[in-house]
Amino acid sequence: LFHIGMSVAVIPDLIFSSKEASGAAGRMFEILDHPVEPTGSDVLKPNEAAEAVVEFAGVSFQYSEGSRILDHVSFTLPLGQTFALVGPSGSGKSTIFKLLCGYYEQQEGEVKLYGQQLRQLQLDELRSKIALVSQDTYLFPATIAENIAYGNARATMADIVKAAKMANAHEFIIALEKGYESFVGERGANLSGGEKQRLAIARAILKDAPILLLDEPTSALDTQSELLVQEALGRWMKGRTVLMIAHRLSTIAEADEILVLDGGRLVERGTHKQLLKQDGLYRKLVAESLSHDQGDLIEIG
Ligand code: ADP
Ligand code: MG
Repeated sequence: LFHIGMSVAVIPDLIFSSKEASGAAGRMFEILDHPVEPTGSDVLKPNEAAEAVVEFAGVSFQYSEGSRILDHVSFTLPLGQTFALVGPSGSGKSTIFKLLCGYYEQQEGEVKLYGQQLRQLQLDELRSKIALVSQDTYLFPATIAENIAYGNARATMADIVKAAKMANAHEFIIALEKGYESFVGERGANLSGGEKQRLAIARAILKDAPILLLDEPTSALDTQSELLVQEALGRWMKGRTVLMIAHRLSTIAEADEILVLDGGRLVERGTHKQLLKQDGLYRKLVAESLSHDQGDLIEIG
């Protein structure tokens, strides 16, 4: 069923399934990602009452000796807030997600979830807290219904349909010859990018995790699909704690706080308004994107 040789980039939301479904996927995770499994007595429960849902404190990281990718990054993400990560390509945005998900461990500093160090949480616990919607959604060679239900083994057909409706996926699904029983090819070969992403959102909705990591798609998606994705996410994000890698100016401007990364360092932070007043990287990125204006599709970073 699984190709062990596939790149890490294609499996992220596979990893965030609940323990009920972890079997083969969990094993693949171990083979590919060397997760930071806690050992013995220092295993802790996340403290749901913690004020900071996510905390990076002086985090430095390198994939290989001598090339520092994150340089003393610190931020805290309070309950229910939406933070946007912005920065040029290669500045370390996705690496922050990878640390948060436990794919890699920082060499310096601390990464905390609900007040506990990530390495002290069980992987199951960690995965149950985080839903990831990325550009590269892993779809199983299975039916659409099975793909949506993946994060939640107890889901009924009614739950699946409800999640699909919230994700703006129901319409395209029932338009398929076999509807929810349609077989999805390897990595969803027979679906468009926007359709795959809406399935990923439906899966995340069904999973009902309190933290959403969102790797926002760029305008590679067709506009209609993109609008449906945006609308579905907007509805669902309410009340959750969200960290997103955002490119779209309209999305970024609405974030409670924007974190601007440059070469692995957090160089600016603030609201859209505050950052526009500073003569820094954010203002430069916005100005550059406005100079090749594409209407609502203004993308920065
Ligand atoms: P962003 O998401 O902001 O574009 P990334 O976090 O993906 O940036 O990458 C930051 C830097 O880390 C880049 O220079 C990239 O080449 C490097 N990098 C990313 N993944 C790996 C990896 N698995 N091994 C080595 N270097 C990597
Ligand atoms: Mg990236």
